[in-house]
Amino acid sequence: MKKRFLFLLALSFPMILSSCVNNTTNDNTNTTTNEEKNDSFMVIWKNDDGNILQIDKSVKKGTIPEYRGKTPTKDKDVINTYVFKGWTPEIKEVTKATTYTAVYEEIKNEYNIVFKNYDGTVLKTYTLNYGDSINFDFNKPTRENEVGIIYKFSGYDDETPTVFGDKVYTAMYDKYLFKNFIWDYTNDNTASVYYETEDGYKYFFEKANVEIVETKDATCTDNGYIKYKMSYNGKSEEITFEKSSKGHDYEFSVVWDGYKAKLVGICKNDPSHKEEYDMGIEIKEKVERTKTTNGYMTLVASYGTYSEEKTFVLEAYGDDYEFDSFIWKDGYDIAQAKYVSKTNSEDYILLDATVTVKVLQDSTCYTAKHCQSTASYDGHTESRDYYTMIMGHDYKFDSIVWDNYTPSIKFVCKNDSSHIKYETDNIDLKVEVIKEATDLEDGIKLYTATYDGHTSTKEEIIPKTSE
Ligand SMILES: [Zn+2]
Ligand SMILES: [Zn+2]
Repeated sequence: MKKRFLFLLALSFPMILSSCVNNTTNDNTNTTTNEEKNDSFMVIWKNDDGNILQIDKSVKKGTIPEYRGKTPTKDKDVINTYVFKGWTPEIKEVTKATTYTAVYEEIKNEYNIVFKNYDGTVLKTYTLNYGDSINFDFNKPTRENEVGIIYKFSGYDDETPTVFGDKVYTAMYDKYLFKNFIWDYTNDNTASVYYETEDGYKYFFEKANVEIVETKDATCTDNGYIKYKMSYNGKSEEITFEKSSKGHDYEFSVVWDGYKAKLVGICKNDPSHKEEYDMGIEIKEKVERTKTTNGYMTLVASYGTYSEEKTFVLEAYGDDYEFDSFIWKDGYDIAQAKYVSKTNSEDYILLDATVTVKVLQDSTCYTAKHCQSTASYDGHTESRDYYTMIMGHDYKFDSIVWDNYTPSIKFVCKNDSSHIKYETDNIDLKVEVIKEATDLEDGIKLYTATYDGHTSTKEEIIPKTSE
């Protein structure tokens, strides 16, 4: 374009050409010379890209030059829109050849900046001028999660922060997939969920919801359990913990019923669990009552390592009771006097009687011991005769006796030395020749009998062989 313009000029106006080409520095003198001669001057109107809009070949000195063409325009570019606003230099009376150039006001272009969500939904629209900076700082977009899938905003597909034209920014999301639930064994009722991107490079943990779905308490004998449900974003999983049986936790106490006692264990976990043991009862101390004075009796109930004492008052029986009979216990060693109420024959009390035992006849090997026990209480007495078991003989080893060369054991009864018996069992008998018989001398044969540590010997003569 510029080249062609210069060519045209060269054909039509060789003088101007020289002034143009050589221009600025050395040829001011030249032009001045021409202008002075002609008294009129050439005025050129150019657009700001150098394009000539109008040429006024001869404008009289002193007149105001005039542009008669269409208002100059300049195409908008990516940055600006241009509005013609005048000429440079300022238009004034012609005094020399002059070139005016169109001057434009620059107005920055407006552009639409659109932010869209992943599905094309418009999130935000800005109208901004070229070169403005873009605010990304509005509310973060979101994408609805699916079961087991969570989308997290990761930024826009482009992050150019300055306006260089119309632009659409589209939100992008990382897609996280459910992996598993993780029970937190260090905190009660707490679990996390773990999500990971498909490539595994990104992940996150979140606190999962935990609720109890089923529970069974452990009893003394049966295990219980507690079942939790962990859930998050449409996924759930159950986890069950056993609770082991507690075992009974008995608390024992002694329950008296009259002069008897039971050791009763009641489980602290469940009072319907009960164990009962009859306790042994011993009289620790007793002072028998009389008609006019109270007595007392201290009993000790015991079972295993448990024991408890209780003292009972034995009230004076007064005139309401009268002697009925003696009641014998433990053979004939103990007796109680039975006193029965005068008004109610069912009602009676037992009072310890004094018992004395007399041996009427000692036992022999053939007869039992003959005894007599006498119970007495407050002037009442009663005797009972009885026999102990037959003692029998009480044989003891006495000696080893010989019948010729056969030994036997003699036993004598300790109760009566006239009771004697012999036994031949269990005797160890050894026979040895301690001296051989010769022609001139007798030999000796020795018999040794042994019984229960006792030993007896006997010699037998072996006659000499000469006769
Ligand atoms: Zn229990
Ligand atoms: Zn005897």
